[in-house]
Amino acid sequence: MKVRVDTVLCESNGICVGIIPEVFDLDDDDRLELLREEVTPEIEPRVRDAVAQCPRHAISLVE
Ligand code: SF4
Repeated sequence: MKVRVDTVLCESNGICVGIIPEVFDLDDDDRLELLREEVTPEIEPRVRDAVAQCPRHAISLVE
């Protein structure tokens, strides 16, 4: 499973970065950066939490 971010929808509020900084980061221009795409079992609960909490519904999971 992989994580995707719709950068058009993302408003760079950093909520996902606060939940799981191993996966999401904001660059110097406040653009969202994906540090890794692969969702492994140990990070899956927090990635799903980020999906649920993103106010823009910009994060999705794909097989
Ligand atoms: S929580 Fe959603 S809107 Fe906020 S930075 Fe992450 S992807 Fe963007």
